[in-house]
Amino acid sequence: MIDLIVVNGTIATNAGTFKADIGVDDGRIVQIGGTLPEARRMVSAAGLLVLPGGVDVHTHLDAPSLNMMTADDFRSGTIAAACGGTTSLIDFCQQTPGGTLAEGLANWNGKAEGKAAIDFGYHMLIPDFNEAIAKELATLPEKGITSFKLFMSGKGGAMVDDHALMTAMTTARQCGAMVMVHAENGDAIYHLQQQYLREGKTGPKYHAETRPARAEAEATARAIALAEITGAPLYVVHVTCAEALEEIVRGKLRGAPVLAETCTHYLFLTKENLDQPGFEGAKYVFSPPARTEKDREALWLALRHNLFETVSSDHSSTRFYDQKQGGRADFTKIPNGLPGIEERLVLLYQGVVQGRITIEQFVDLASSRPARTFGLAPRKGNVAVGSDADLVLFDANAEWTIRNSDLHHAVDYSAYEGMNVRGRVVSVLLRGEVIVDNGEFCGQPGYGRFLPRARVEQ
Ligand SMILES: [Zn+2]
Repeated sequence: MIDLIVVNGTIATNAGTFKADIGVDDGRIVQIGGTLPEARRMVSAAGLLVLPGGVDVHTHLDAPSLNMMTADDFRSGTIAAACGGTTSLIDFCQQTPGGTLAEGLANWNGKAEGKAAIDFGYHMLIPDFNEAIAKELATLPEKGITSFKLFMSGKGGAMVDDHALMTAMTTARQCGAMVMVHAENGDAIYHLQQQYLREGKTGPKYHAETRPARAEAEATARAIALAEITGAPLYVVHVTCAEALEEIVRGKLRGAPVLAETCTHYLFLTKENLDQPGFEGAKYVFSPPARTEKDREALWLALRHNLFETVSSDHSSTRFYDQKQGGRADFTKIPNGLPGIEERLVLLYQGVVQGRITIEQFVDLASSRPARTFGLAPRKGNVAVGSDADLVLFDANAEWTIRNSDLHHAVDYSAYEGMNVRGRVVSVLLRGEVIVDNGEFCGQPGYGRFLPRARVEQ
């Protein structure tokens, strides 16, 4: 007698699609296909796809944004993730400026405790890099944290110089970790922001104009060069444009150890979203900014050619009605970020609907490849014997309209309000437990477990 069988579904993996029943025991997949043993419970997946649970490797929950905290904490953020078909995430645990990494980690453990409804790991985000932090980095892999994020923008704040970046890379290489960069040239952006503000250009649309694609491409190229010099693997977060993509391709062709992601919003939004009557554009203030139609097309093509490891949400939610208002008189004071943790999977699936990527690529980008890249495989990211029974029952034919009122995050807008989409998350299992049933969360905050991640191959 085993715990559970999932019957009559069509399993979709990154290697193909096939009809088979799944046997689950003790939270793991124990059999796929063949004659399954008797089970205590049965879940019907008739007419549905069975996908591996989504893996979102870029979220900011209960995190500082300017002088406030994001609207979603680990409770609302992970419930929204679950309802959107994501069963594991990697959140950015942050050092508090002036504090140690150990304090940052303890802080984040406190935020997740009793609240996380899905499994989670951490990257370490370092806003205040110094000699002591450089030493402390080497202690993170033994705690299951094998990626460090540094900023090449944010002059006067989190921004690091090339020396600091190389120090972090060298340490990462020695201890089996990976450096992630926010790649934008912070000096160039600061220069433009000061110029625009002097000229009285204060509205949201100037957010994009002061963060040009070339500033992203330059920083991307520089980070790749530093990775080549130090020999450390590099992960470029949230790539937005053809110009940065070109640098990544050039680096890859030289054999540079560079990996990269893009995010949902860069596939669907453009800088035109910033240019709206009133202050509405503030909803679309995130960094780097969304670009042009041409860039959107380039990103989809890059996905088709397997140039990205994943499409993440970069979920960083601040409310429009109060939090975003802080930047009414000055676009540099608008807290950056947008929600998207729940919309990620279905939006990426539109790539399949539109014939831009295959269903195998969709599964790979949403789940398998990020799990592999960040040391969560083989437990996560696949429907395979031995893997955790993290399963999404997905109705590939359902058509619906995205409405913020139907989403589960704690923020007052969706960037995709009114968009008609095909494909709907029906049910979600995490380690064999049903946590979403017919689109509604039925799990338990606190059920999510910390995922220590494997060291990165150097
Ligand atoms: Zn981010």
